[in-house]
Amino acid sequence: MDKHIPERTCIVCREKKDKNDLFRIGQVSEKKYIFDEKGKVQSRGVYVCKTHECIQRLSKNKKINLSMEDLVKMVNLLKKKSKNYLNVLSAMKNSEHLTFGINMVLEDLDHIHFIIIAEDISEKNDKKLIAKAKEKNIPYVHFGKKDELGDIFKKDEINVIAIKSKKVAKGLLD
Ligand SMILES: [Zn+2]
Repeated sequence: MDKHIPERTCIVCREKKDKNDLFRIGQVSEKKYIFDEKGKVQSRGVYVCKTHECIQRLSKNKKINLSMEDLVKMVNLLKKKSKNYLNVLSAMKNSEHLTFGINMVLEDLDHIHFIIIAEDISEKNDKKLIAKAKEKNIPYVHFGKKDELGDIFKKDEINVIAIKSKKVAKGLLD
C-alpha cells in the first residue's frame, strides 16, 4: 500500500523531508520549546533533521532554546546502537554541564556524575582519575583520543571531560 507521509521543513537547513526523518519540537509557550519525542504534544511545532549536523546547529539557535537534556536525548536517538559520546559532547559543549582537564575535573569531583577519559591518556593520569572516580562512585568510560576530545573545545588535546548534570549523565549512560 502506498502510504502518504507528509513532508515538513527542517528549521535549520530548510530542507523538506518526510516527517519520519525529522524530530518534532513543540513550542509550549512563547519562549519555551521541548523535544516532542512521540509527536503528541498539543502545540505549535517546528522540525529538525535527524542528523548530527542540524541538531548541533539547533543547539546554537538563540530563539529555539531547547534544554541540554532534550538535545542529548535527540543525539542519543540517532546513535542508539553504538553511542558516540563525541557527538553528544559536541552538542552540549557550550553548556555549564561540562568541565574538562585533569585539574578541573579533580577539583570538581563532588559535582560530577560521569567521566569520559581519553583512550590514550597517560597511565599515571588514568590511574589517578579512576581511583578518584571509584572513591566517589562516579561512572566513567574510556572514549576517543586526546585530540578528538580536544577538538570539541578547540584545544589540541584534552585528557578528560566530565559531566556535571545528573540528568545528562543519566542520558549518556542509558
Ligand atoms: Zn536539517
